[in-house]
Amino acid sequence: VHELLFGDVSARADRPAMIDGPSGRVITYGELAGAVDRVAAALAERGVRKGDVVGIFSPNTPYYAVAFHGVLRAGGTATTINALYTPNEIASQLTDSGAKLLFTISPFLDRAVPAAELAGISEIVVLDGAEGHTGLSDLLASTAAAPQVEFDPAEDLAVLPYSSGTTGRAKGVMLTHRNLVSNLVQTGPMMHVGSDTRVLAVLPFFHIYGMQVTMNHPLSIGATVVTMPKFDLPEFLRIIAEHRTDRVYIAPPVAVALAKHPIVDNYDLSALKVLFSGAAPLDEELAEAVHKRLGCVVRQGYGMTEMSPVSHSIPDAREDIRIGSVGLILPNMENKIVDLATGEEVGTGERGELWCKGPNVMKGYLNNAEATAATLDEDGFLHTGDVAVIDERGVVTIVDRVKELIKYKGYQVPPAELEALLLTHPSIADAAVIGVIDAEGEEVPKAFVVRQADAELSEAEVMGFVAERVAPHKKVRVVEFLEAIPKSAAGKILRKDLRSREAAAK
Ligand code: ATP
Ligand code: MG
Repeated sequence: VHELLFGDVSARADRPAMIDGPSGRVITYGELAGAVDRVAAALAERGVRKGDVVGIFSPNTPYYAVAFHGVLRAGGTATTINALYTPNEIASQLTDSGAKLLFTISPFLDRAVPAAELAGISEIVVLDGAEGHTGLSDLLASTAAAPQVEFDPAEDLAVLPYSSGTTGRAKGVMLTHRNLVSNLVQTGPMMHVGSDTRVLAVLPFFHIYGMQVTMNHPLSIGATVVTMPKFDLPEFLRIIAEHRTDRVYIAPPVAVALAKHPIVDNYDLSALKVLFSGAAPLDEELAEAVHKRLGCVVRQGYGMTEMSPVSHSIPDAREDIRIGSVGLILPNMENKIVDLATGEEVGTGERGELWCKGPNVMKGYLNNAEATAATLDEDGFLHTGDVAVIDERGVVTIVDRVKELIKYKGYQVPPAELEALLLTHPSIADAAVIGVIDAEGEEVPKAFVVRQADAELSEAEVMGFVAERVAPHKKVRVVEFLEAIPKSAAGKILRKDLRSREAAAK
Protein backbone atom coordinates (compact mmCIF):
# COMPACT_ATOMS: atom_id res chain seq x y z
CA VAL A 1 0.00 0.00 0.00
CA HIS A 2 2.80 2.38 0.91
CA GLU A 3 4.47 2.00 -2.51
CA LEU A 4 1.26 2.96 -4.29
CA LEU A 5 0.61 6.05 -2.17
CA PHE A 6 4.06 7.37 -1.34
CA GLY A 7 6.46 5.38 -3.53
CA ASP A 8 7.40 8.47 -5.50
CA VAL A 9 5.89 11.75 -4.38
CA SER A 10 8.70 13.93 -5.77
CA ALA A 11 6.47 15.27 -8.55
CA ARG A 12 3.78 16.30 -6.08
CA ALA A 13 5.81 17.06 -2.95
CA ASP A 14 4.49 20.63 -2.68
CA ARG A 15 0.89 19.85 -3.51
CA PRO A 16 -1.70 19.62 -0.71
CA ALA A 17 -2.32 16.02 0.34
CA MET A 18 -4.66 16.75 3.23
CA ILE A 19 -6.46 19.74 4.70
CA ASP A 20 -7.90 19.73 8.20
CA GLY A 21 -11.43 21.01 7.47
CA PRO A 22 -12.16 22.83 10.76
CA SER A 23 -8.81 24.69 10.99
CA GLY A 24 -7.86 24.82 7.30
CA ARG A 25 -4.33 23.54 8.10
CA VAL A 26 -2.65 22.07 5.01
CA ILE A 27 -0.20 19.16 4.87
CA THR A 28 1.63 18.58 1.59
CA TYR A 29 2.52 15.26 0.01
CA GLY A 30 6.17 15.86 0.87
CA GLU A 31 5.33 16.51 4.53
CA LEU A 32 2.95 13.58 4.73
CA ALA A 33 5.39 11.09 3.18
CA GLY A 34 8.19 12.38 5.46
CA ALA A 35 6.03 12.11 8.59
CA VAL A 36 4.96 8.58 7.64
CA ASP A 37 8.62 7.54 7.28
CA ARG A 38 9.56 9.01 10.67
CA VAL A 39 6.61 7.39 12.44
CA ALA A 40 7.54 4.06 10.85
CA ALA A 41 11.14 4.49 12.05
CA ALA A 42 10.01 5.35 15.58
CA LEU A 43 7.62 2.40 15.68
CA ALA A 44 10.44 0.09 14.56
CA GLU A 45 12.61 1.51 17.36
CA ARG A 46 9.80 0.62 19.74
CA GLY A 47 9.89 -2.96 18.55
CA VAL A 48 6.98 -2.95 16.07
CA ARG A 49 7.77 -5.69 13.55
CA LYS A 50 6.01 -7.20 10.55
CA GLY A 51 2.66 -8.60 11.58
CA ASP A 52 2.42 -6.63 14.83
CA VAL A 53 -0.96 -5.00 15.33
CA VAL A 54 -1.40 -1.34 16.30
CA GLY A 55 -4.76 0.20 17.24
CA ILE A 56 -5.95 3.58 15.95
CA PHE A 57 -8.78 5.24 17.87
CA SER A 58 -9.32 8.72 16.49
CA PRO A 59 -11.71 10.85 14.44
CA ASN A 60 -10.68 11.99 10.94
CA THR A 61 -7.76 14.41 10.90
CA PRO A 62 -4.61 14.50 8.75
CA TYR A 63 -2.79 12.92 11.75
CA TYR A 64 -4.92 9.84 11.23
CA ALA A 65 -3.24 9.22 7.88
CA VAL A 66 0.20 9.77 9.43
CA ALA A 67 -0.45 7.15 12.13
CA PHE A 68 -2.19 4.72 9.77
CA HIS A 69 0.47 4.76 7.06
CA GLY A 70 3.28 4.89 9.62
CA VAL A 71 2.03 1.57 10.99
CA LEU A 72 1.76 -0.01 7.52
CA ARG A 73 5.13 1.39 6.45
CA ALA A 74 6.72 -0.24 9.53
CA GLY A 75 5.26 -3.58 8.41
CA GLY A 76 2.56 -3.51 11.06
CA THR A 77 -1.18 -4.07 10.75
CA ALA A 78 -3.57 -1.25 11.68
CA THR A 79 -6.73 -2.16 13.55
CA THR A 80 -9.03 0.83 13.27
CA ILE A 81 -11.47 1.43 16.11
CA ASN A 82 -14.95 2.96 16.04
CA ALA A 83 -14.77 6.47 17.52
CA LEU A 84 -18.05 5.91 19.41
CA TYR A 85 -16.88 2.78 21.23
CA THR A 86 -16.91 2.48 25.03
CA PRO A 87 -13.77 1.37 26.93
CA ASN A 88 -15.02 -2.24 27.01
CA GLU A 89 -15.69 -2.34 23.28
CA ILE A 90 -12.30 -0.80 22.53
CA ALA A 91 -10.59 -3.28 24.86
CA SER A 92 -12.30 -6.23 23.27
CA GLN A 93 -11.10 -5.20 19.79
CA LEU A 94 -7.57 -4.53 21.09
CA THR A 95 -7.51 -7.94 22.78
CA ASP A 96 -9.10 -9.85 19.88
CA SER A 97 -6.64 -8.31 17.41
CA GLY A 98 -3.66 -8.65 19.78
CA ALA A 99 -2.73 -4.95 19.47
CA LYS A 100 0.60 -3.86 21.03
CA LEU A 101 0.24 -0.09 20.94
CA LEU A 102 -2.57 2.43 20.62
CA PHE A 103 -2.84 5.78 18.82
CA THR A 104 -5.51 8.21 20.02
CA ILE A 105 -6.26 11.92 20.59
CA SER A 106 -6.37 13.75 23.94
CA PRO A 107 -10.19 14.13 24.12
CA PHE A 108 -10.46 10.32 23.78
CA LEU A 109 -8.01 9.53 26.61
CA ASP A 110 -10.80 9.02 29.15
CA ARG A 111 -11.86 5.98 27.10
CA ALA A 112 -8.48 4.99 25.64
CA VAL A 113 -6.64 4.76 28.98
CA PRO A 114 -9.00 2.28 30.68
CA ALA A 115 -9.30 0.30 27.42
CA ALA A 116 -5.51 0.03 27.05
CA GLU A 117 -5.24 -1.06 30.67
CA LEU A 118 -7.89 -3.78 30.18
CA ALA A 119 -6.06 -4.98 27.06
CA GLY A 120 -2.62 -4.89 28.69
CA ILE A 121 -1.22 -2.20 26.38
CA SER A 122 1.43 -0.07 28.07
CA GLU A 123 2.05 2.67 25.50
CA ILE A 124 -0.48 5.13 24.08
CA VAL A 125 0.60 7.66 21.46
CA VAL A 126 -1.47 10.84 21.60
CA LEU A 127 -1.72 12.45 18.17
CA ASP A 128 -2.33 15.99 19.48
CA GLY A 129 -0.04 15.53 22.50
CA ALA A 130 -0.90 15.16 26.19
CA GLU A 131 0.99 15.36 29.48
CA GLY A 132 2.24 11.96 30.66
CA HIS A 133 1.93 10.17 27.29
CA THR A 134 4.08 9.74 24.22
CA GLY A 135 3.07 12.34 21.62
CA LEU A 136 3.10 12.10 17.85
CA SER A 137 5.77 14.84 18.02
CA ASP A 138 8.03 12.42 19.94
CA LEU A 139 7.72 9.88 17.10
CA LEU A 140 8.29 12.58 14.48
CA ALA A 141 11.54 13.53 16.25
CA SER A 142 12.99 10.13 15.37
CA THR A 143 16.21 10.39 13.37
CA ALA A 144 16.43 6.69 12.50
CA ALA A 145 15.92 5.57 8.91
CA ALA A 146 12.55 4.03 8.05
CA PRO A 147 12.84 0.24 8.16
CA GLN A 148 13.03 -1.76 4.93
CA VAL A 149 10.39 -4.46 5.31
CA GLU A 150 9.90 -7.30 2.84
CA PHE A 151 6.23 -7.90 2.17
CA ASP A 152 4.34 -10.82 0.80
CA PRO A 153 1.40 -8.77 -0.48
CA ALA A 154 -0.92 -11.75 -0.80
CA GLU A 155 -0.34 -12.95 2.76
CA ASP A 156 0.68 -10.02 4.95
CA LEU A 157 -2.14 -8.12 6.62
CA ALA A 158 -2.31 -4.37 6.07
CA VAL A 159 -5.42 -3.75 8.14
CA LEU A 160 -7.78 -5.46 10.53
CA PRO A 161 -10.94 -3.38 10.41
CA TYR A 162 -14.04 -4.72 12.11
CA SER A 163 -17.32 -5.12 10.25
CA SER A 164 -19.98 -2.65 11.37
CA GLY A 165 -21.72 -5.02 13.76
CA THR A 166 -25.05 -4.17 12.14
CA THR A 167 -26.33 -7.73 12.30
CA GLY A 168 -24.41 -9.04 15.31
CA ARG A 169 -21.01 -8.84 16.94
CA ALA A 170 -18.47 -6.99 14.79
CA LYS A 171 -16.00 -9.39 13.14
CA GLY A 172 -12.29 -8.71 12.56
CA VAL A 173 -11.70 -8.77 8.82
CA MET A 174 -8.23 -9.78 7.61
CA LEU A 175 -7.27 -7.63 4.62
CA THR A 176 -3.89 -8.01 2.96
CA HIS A 177 -1.83 -5.41 1.13
CA ARG A 178 -2.96 -7.01 -2.12
CA ASN A 179 -6.62 -6.69 -1.08
CA LEU A 180 -6.32 -2.96 -0.42
CA VAL A 181 -4.15 -2.14 -3.43
CA SER A 182 -6.44 -4.16 -5.72
CA ASN A 183 -9.51 -2.24 -4.66
CA LEU A 184 -7.77 1.14 -5.04
CA VAL A 185 -6.80 0.19 -8.59
CA GLN A 186 -10.17 -1.43 -9.41
CA THR A 187 -12.23 1.60 -8.36
CA GLY A 188 -10.07 4.06 -10.32
CA PRO A 189 -11.60 3.65 -13.79
CA MET A 190 -15.15 4.13 -12.46
CA MET A 191 -14.47 7.54 -10.94
CA HIS A 192 -12.99 10.70 -12.33
CA VAL A 193 -10.64 11.51 -9.48
CA GLY A 194 -7.60 13.48 -10.62
CA SER A 195 -4.88 15.50 -8.94
CA ASP A 196 -7.14 18.58 -8.91
CA THR A 197 -9.99 16.76 -7.18
CA ARG A 198 -10.83 17.76 -3.61
CA VAL A 199 -12.46 14.92 -1.73
CA LEU A 200 -14.43 15.57 1.45
CA ALA A 201 -13.60 12.88 4.02
CA VAL A 202 -16.47 12.98 6.49
CA LEU A 203 -17.06 9.22 6.56
CA PRO A 204 -14.97 7.81 9.39
CA PHE A 205 -11.51 6.50 8.45
CA PHE A 206 -11.94 3.66 10.95
CA HIS A 207 -14.61 2.15 8.68
CA ILE A 208 -13.34 0.57 5.46
CA TYR A 209 -15.43 2.89 3.23
CA GLY A 210 -13.92 6.08 4.66
CA MET A 211 -10.48 4.49 4.92
CA GLN A 212 -10.16 3.27 1.35
CA VAL A 213 -12.47 5.48 -0.69
CA THR A 214 -11.91 8.84 1.01
CA MET A 215 -8.34 8.53 2.35
CA ASN A 216 -6.29 5.97 0.42
CA HIS A 217 -7.83 6.32 -3.02
CA PRO A 218 -7.46 10.11 -3.36
CA LEU A 219 -3.93 9.91 -1.88
CA SER A 220 -3.01 7.25 -4.45
CA ILE A 221 -4.04 9.64 -7.26
CA GLY A 222 -2.44 12.81 -5.88
CA ALA A 223 -5.79 14.45 -5.06
CA THR A 224 -6.51 16.48 -1.90
CA VAL A 225 -8.40 15.08 1.09
CA VAL A 226 -10.31 17.54 3.28
CA THR A 227 -11.03 15.94 6.66
CA MET A 228 -14.00 16.42 8.98
CA PRO A 229 -13.90 14.84 12.47
CA LYS A 230 -17.63 14.15 12.64
CA PHE A 231 -20.81 14.85 10.73
CA ASP A 232 -22.63 18.06 11.53
CA LEU A 233 -24.86 19.50 8.79
CA PRO A 234 -23.97 23.23 9.01
CA GLU A 235 -20.23 22.46 9.35
CA PHE A 236 -20.44 19.94 6.49
CA LEU A 237 -22.05 22.54 4.22
CA ARG A 238 -19.61 25.25 5.34
CA ILE A 239 -16.59 23.05 4.53
CA ILE A 240 -17.91 22.13 1.07
CA ALA A 241 -18.45 25.84 0.37
CA GLU A 242 -15.17 27.08 1.88
CA HIS A 243 -12.82 24.38 0.61
CA ARG A 244 -14.71 23.94 -2.64
CA THR A 245 -14.70 20.14 -2.42
CA ASP A 246 -15.95 18.72 -5.69
CA ARG A 247 -16.32 15.08 -4.68
CA VAL A 248 -18.21 14.15 -1.54
CA TYR A 249 -18.77 10.61 -0.28
CA ILE A 250 -21.68 10.01 2.05
CA ALA A 251 -24.02 7.41 3.51
CA PRO A 252 -27.79 7.73 2.88
CA PRO A 253 -28.71 9.67 6.08
CA VAL A 254 -26.73 12.63 4.70
CA ALA A 255 -28.72 12.43 1.46
CA VAL A 256 -31.92 12.68 3.50
CA ALA A 257 -30.66 15.88 5.11
CA LEU A 258 -29.49 17.29 1.76
CA ALA A 259 -32.88 16.64 0.20
CA LYS A 260 -35.04 17.87 3.06
CA HIS A 261 -33.24 20.36 5.35
CA PRO A 262 -34.04 24.07 4.78
CA ILE A 263 -30.53 25.36 5.69
CA VAL A 264 -28.99 23.66 2.65
CA ASP A 265 -30.09 26.65 0.53
CA ASN A 266 -27.96 29.04 2.62
CA TYR A 267 -24.64 27.70 1.29
CA ASP A 268 -22.80 28.00 -2.01
CA LEU A 269 -22.41 24.37 -3.03
CA SER A 270 -21.57 25.11 -6.65
CA ALA A 271 -18.16 23.39 -6.39
CA LEU A 272 -19.79 20.03 -5.68
CA LYS A 273 -19.74 17.88 -8.82
CA VAL A 274 -20.24 14.30 -7.61
CA LEU A 275 -22.07 13.07 -4.54
CA PHE A 276 -21.38 9.39 -4.01
CA SER A 277 -23.40 7.25 -1.60
CA GLY A 278 -22.68 3.81 -0.20
CA ALA A 279 -22.90 1.62 2.96
CA ALA A 280 -26.70 1.37 2.98
CA PRO A 281 -29.51 1.58 0.41
CA LEU A 282 -30.00 4.93 -1.29
CA ASP A 283 -33.53 5.47 -2.48
CA GLU A 284 -33.91 6.54 -6.10
CA GLU A 285 -36.48 9.31 -5.50
CA LEU A 286 -34.42 10.73 -2.69
CA ALA A 287 -31.32 10.68 -4.88
CA GLU A 288 -33.24 12.45 -7.66
CA ALA A 289 -34.39 15.09 -5.17
CA VAL A 290 -30.77 15.74 -4.12
CA HIS A 291 -29.67 15.86 -7.75
CA LYS A 292 -32.38 18.42 -8.58
CA ARG A 293 -31.71 20.55 -5.52
CA LEU A 294 -27.89 20.66 -5.74
CA GLY A 295 -27.35 20.10 -9.45
CA CYS A 296 -24.55 17.58 -8.86
CA VAL A 297 -24.22 14.05 -10.22
CA VAL A 298 -25.42 11.46 -7.69
CA ARG A 299 -23.91 7.99 -7.82
CA GLN A 300 -24.12 4.86 -5.70
CA GLY A 301 -21.79 2.01 -4.94
CA TYR A 302 -21.98 -1.16 -2.90
CA GLY A 303 -19.47 -3.05 -0.88
CA MET A 304 -18.60 -4.59 2.43
CA THR A 305 -15.63 -4.65 4.79
CA GLU A 306 -14.88 -8.16 3.47
CA MET A 307 -14.30 -6.75 -0.07
CA SER A 308 -11.91 -3.89 0.85
CA PRO A 309 -14.74 -2.65 0.39
CA VAL A 310 -16.14 -1.86 -3.10
CA SER A 311 -17.49 -4.51 -5.50
CA HIS A 312 -20.10 -2.49 -7.45
CA SER A 313 -20.35 1.10 -8.50
CA ILE A 314 -22.16 3.31 -11.00
CA PRO A 315 -19.39 4.83 -13.14
CA ASP A 316 -19.40 8.65 -13.12
CA ALA A 317 -20.12 8.79 -16.82
CA ARG A 318 -22.95 6.23 -17.07
CA GLU A 319 -26.03 8.43 -17.13
CA ASP A 320 -28.04 5.46 -18.41
CA ILE A 321 -27.71 3.51 -15.15
CA ARG A 322 -30.44 4.10 -12.56
CA ILE A 323 -29.28 5.80 -9.34
CA GLY A 324 -31.28 3.30 -7.30
CA SER A 325 -29.04 0.47 -8.52
CA VAL A 326 -25.46 -0.06 -7.35
CA GLY A 327 -24.14 -0.27 -10.91
CA LEU A 328 -21.63 -2.69 -12.36
CA ILE A 329 -19.16 -5.17 -10.92
CA LEU A 330 -15.62 -3.73 -10.76
CA PRO A 331 -12.89 -4.86 -13.16
CA ASN A 332 -11.15 -8.11 -12.19
CA MET A 333 -14.19 -9.41 -10.30
CA GLU A 334 -16.96 -11.92 -10.96
CA ASN A 335 -20.44 -11.93 -9.50
CA LYS A 336 -23.49 -14.15 -9.58
CA ILE A 337 -26.92 -14.29 -8.02
CA VAL A 338 -27.91 -17.62 -6.50
CA ASP A 339 -31.10 -19.18 -5.20
CA LEU A 340 -31.32 -18.70 -1.42
CA ALA A 341 -32.26 -22.32 -0.84
CA THR A 342 -30.25 -24.27 -3.43
CA GLY A 343 -27.22 -22.08 -4.19
CA GLU A 344 -27.91 -22.54 -7.94
CA GLU A 345 -27.39 -19.49 -10.14
CA VAL A 346 -30.67 -17.75 -11.05
CA GLY A 347 -31.51 -15.83 -14.23
CA THR A 348 -31.54 -12.08 -14.84
CA GLY A 349 -34.37 -10.30 -13.07
CA GLU A 350 -34.66 -12.97 -10.38
CA ARG A 351 -33.91 -12.37 -6.73
CA GLY A 352 -31.19 -14.30 -4.94
CA GLU A 353 -28.07 -13.95 -2.81
CA LEU A 354 -25.19 -11.98 -4.33
CA TRP A 355 -21.85 -13.82 -4.47
CA CYS A 356 -18.62 -12.03 -5.47
CA LYS A 357 -15.08 -13.06 -6.25
CA GLY A 358 -11.93 -11.02 -6.83
CA PRO A 359 -8.48 -9.96 -5.60
CA ASN A 360 -10.07 -7.57 -3.10
CA VAL A 361 -11.91 -10.34 -1.21
CA MET A 362 -10.62 -10.83 2.36
CA LYS A 363 -8.30 -13.56 3.53
CA GLY A 364 -10.85 -14.46 6.23
CA TYR A 365 -12.24 -13.43 9.60
CA LEU A 366 -9.78 -13.15 12.47
CA ASN A 367 -10.02 -15.89 15.11
CA ASN A 368 -13.22 -17.17 13.53
CA ALA A 369 -12.70 -20.13 11.19
CA GLU A 370 -16.37 -21.03 11.42
CA ALA A 371 -17.60 -17.66 10.14
CA THR A 372 -14.90 -17.71 7.46
CA ALA A 373 -16.03 -21.14 6.23
CA ALA A 374 -19.65 -20.01 6.16
CA THR A 375 -18.80 -16.90 4.08
CA LEU A 376 -15.98 -17.83 1.70
CA ASP A 377 -16.53 -20.93 -0.43
CA GLU A 378 -14.04 -23.30 -2.09
CA ASP A 379 -14.32 -21.50 -5.42
CA GLY A 380 -13.30 -18.22 -3.82
CA PHE A 381 -16.77 -16.65 -3.89
CA LEU A 382 -17.74 -14.46 -0.96
CA HIS A 383 -21.38 -14.98 0.05
CA THR A 384 -22.43 -11.42 0.75
CA GLY A 385 -25.60 -12.16 2.73
CA ASP A 386 -27.40 -9.59 0.58
CA VAL A 387 -30.34 -10.24 -1.73
CA ALA A 388 -29.90 -8.69 -5.17
CA VAL A 389 -31.13 -8.72 -8.77
CA ILE A 390 -29.02 -8.39 -11.92
CA ASP A 391 -30.24 -7.23 -15.33
CA GLU A 392 -29.08 -8.18 -18.86
CA ARG A 393 -26.51 -5.37 -18.85
CA GLY A 394 -25.01 -6.60 -15.55
CA VAL A 395 -26.49 -3.75 -13.50
CA VAL A 396 -27.07 -4.94 -9.93
CA THR A 397 -29.79 -3.71 -7.58
CA ILE A 398 -29.61 -4.59 -3.87
CA VAL A 399 -32.92 -5.65 -2.31
CA ASP A 400 -31.97 -6.14 1.34
CA ARG A 401 -30.01 -8.42 3.62
CA VAL A 402 -31.06 -12.08 3.56
CA LYS A 403 -31.44 -12.03 7.34
CA GLU A 404 -33.61 -8.89 7.38
CA LEU A 405 -36.33 -10.12 4.99
CA ILE A 406 -39.67 -10.17 6.78
CA LYS A 407 -41.59 -13.40 6.18
CA TYR A 408 -45.26 -12.51 6.01
CA LYS A 409 -47.50 -15.54 5.27
CA GLY A 410 -44.87 -17.10 3.02
CA TYR A 411 -44.10 -13.83 1.20
CA GLN A 412 -40.77 -12.10 1.60
CA VAL A 413 -40.94 -8.41 2.39
CA PRO A 414 -37.72 -6.36 2.16
CA PRO A 415 -37.80 -3.67 4.89
CA ALA A 416 -35.47 -1.42 2.87
CA GLU A 417 -38.17 -1.02 0.20
CA LEU A 418 -40.73 0.16 2.76
CA GLU A 419 -38.22 2.50 4.39
CA ALA A 420 -37.52 4.14 1.03
CA LEU A 421 -41.24 4.53 0.36
CA LEU A 422 -41.88 6.05 3.80
CA LEU A 423 -39.12 8.61 3.21
CA THR A 424 -41.00 9.97 0.20
CA HIS A 425 -43.78 11.19 2.53
CA PRO A 426 -43.33 14.95 3.07
CA SER A 427 -44.10 14.73 6.82
CA ILE A 428 -41.62 11.90 7.45
CA ALA A 429 -38.08 12.88 8.37
CA ASP A 430 -36.78 9.34 8.83
CA ALA A 431 -38.04 5.76 9.07
CA ALA A 432 -37.04 2.16 9.77
CA VAL A 433 -38.93 -1.11 9.37
CA ILE A 434 -38.54 -4.48 11.12
CA GLY A 435 -40.63 -7.64 11.39
CA VAL A 436 -42.58 -8.08 14.64
CA ILE A 437 -44.81 -10.94 15.75
CA ASP A 438 -48.50 -10.01 15.96
CA ALA A 439 -51.24 -11.49 18.15
CA GLU A 440 -51.78 -14.36 15.66
CA GLY A 441 -48.09 -15.31 15.78
CA GLU A 442 -47.54 -13.93 12.27
CA GLU A 443 -44.45 -11.86 11.39
CA VAL A 444 -45.64 -8.44 10.13
CA PRO A 445 -43.86 -5.23 9.04
CA LYS A 446 -43.69 -2.56 11.74
CA ALA A 447 -42.59 0.99 10.87
CA PHE A 448 -40.72 3.30 13.24
CA VAL A 449 -41.28 6.83 12.02
CA VAL A 450 -39.69 10.17 12.86
CA ARG A 451 -41.98 13.08 12.01
CA GLN A 452 -40.66 16.23 10.32
CA ALA A 453 -40.45 19.11 12.79
CA ASP A 454 -43.95 20.58 13.31
CA ALA A 455 -45.63 17.98 11.09
CA GLU A 456 -48.83 16.28 12.23
CA LEU A 457 -49.08 12.67 11.20
CA SER A 458 -51.08 9.78 12.64
CA GLU A 459 -50.36 6.05 12.66
CA ALA A 460 -53.38 5.48 10.39
CA GLU A 461 -52.08 8.03 7.87
CA VAL A 462 -48.71 6.25 7.73
CA MET A 463 -50.38 2.86 7.18
CA GLY A 464 -52.75 4.28 4.58
CA PHE A 465 -49.90 5.96 2.67
CA VAL A 466 -48.05 2.64 2.36
CA ALA A 467 -51.16 0.53 1.68
CA GLU A 468 -52.06 2.68 -1.34
CA ARG A 469 -48.66 2.07 -2.89
CA VAL A 470 -47.70 -1.58 -2.31
CA ALA A 471 -49.05 -5.11 -2.76
CA PRO A 472 -51.24 -6.17 0.20
CA HIS A 473 -48.62 -8.52 1.74
CA LYS A 474 -46.18 -5.60 2.07
CA LYS A 475 -48.53 -3.36 4.07
CA VAL A 476 -47.14 -1.79 7.24
CA ARG A 477 -49.33 -3.18 10.02
CA VAL A 478 -47.90 -1.46 13.10
CA VAL A 479 -46.52 2.09 13.48
CA GLU A 480 -44.60 3.74 16.29
CA PHE A 481 -43.29 7.31 16.38
CA LEU A 482 -39.73 7.89 17.57
CA GLU A 483 -37.50 10.92 18.13
CA ALA A 484 -34.67 9.37 16.10
CA ILE A 485 -33.83 6.14 14.27
CA PRO A 486 -30.83 4.31 15.80
CA LYS A 487 -27.96 4.39 13.29
CA SER A 488 -24.39 3.17 13.34
CA ALA A 489 -21.42 5.48 12.85
CA ALA A 490 -21.29 4.24 9.27
CA GLY A 491 -24.85 5.49 8.70
CA LYS A 492 -26.68 2.16 8.78
CA ILE A 493 -30.04 1.63 10.43
CA LEU A 494 -29.51 -0.53 13.54
CA ARG A 495 -32.54 -2.77 13.16
CA LYS A 496 -31.12 -5.04 15.88
CA ASP A 497 -31.51 -2.13 18.36
CA LEU A 498 -35.14 -1.72 17.30
CA ARG A 499 -35.64 -5.46 17.81
CA SER A 500 -34.22 -5.35 21.35
CA ARG A 501 -36.47 -2.36 22.03
CA GLU A 502 -39.45 -4.47 20.90
CA ALA A 503 -38.35 -7.39 23.06
CA ALA A 504 -37.93 -5.08 26.08
CA ALA A 505 -41.42 -3.64 25.56
CA LYS A 506 -43.02 -7.11 25.65
P1 ATP B 1 -21.94 -6.80 10.19
O1 ATP B 1 -21.41 -7.63 9.06
O2 ATP B 1 -20.95 -6.70 11.33
O3 ATP B 1 -23.31 -7.14 10.63
P2 ATP B 1 -22.25 -4.73 8.20
O4 ATP B 1 -22.57 -5.83 7.26
O5 ATP B 1 -23.18 -3.55 8.24
O6 ATP B 1 -22.06 -5.28 9.69
P3 ATP B 1 -20.19 -3.47 6.62
O7 ATP B 1 -19.13 -4.31 6.06
O8 ATP B 1 -19.87 -2.09 7.05
O9 ATP B 1 -20.78 -4.19 7.89
O10 ATP B 1 -21.39 -3.30 5.60
C1 ATP B 1 -21.63 -4.13 4.48
C2 ATP B 1 -23.12 -4.22 4.22
O11 ATP B 1 -23.69 -2.92 4.03
C3 ATP B 1 -23.49 -4.99 2.98
O12 ATP B 1 -23.48 -6.38 3.21
C4 ATP B 1 -24.90 -4.45 2.68
O13 ATP B 1 -25.89 -5.10 3.47
C5 ATP B 1 -24.81 -3.00 3.14
N1 ATP B 1 -24.60 -2.09 2.00
C6 ATP B 1 -23.46 -1.52 1.59
N2 ATP B 1 -23.65 -0.71 0.53
C7 ATP B 1 -24.95 -0.80 0.22
C8 ATP B 1 -25.79 -0.21 -0.79
N3 ATP B 1 -25.32 0.66 -1.68
N4 ATP B 1 -27.08 -0.56 -0.80
C9 ATP B 1 -27.58 -1.42 0.11
N5 ATP B 1 -26.86 -1.99 1.09
C10 ATP B 1 -25.56 -1.69 1.15
MG1 MG C 1 -21.69 -7.70 7.06
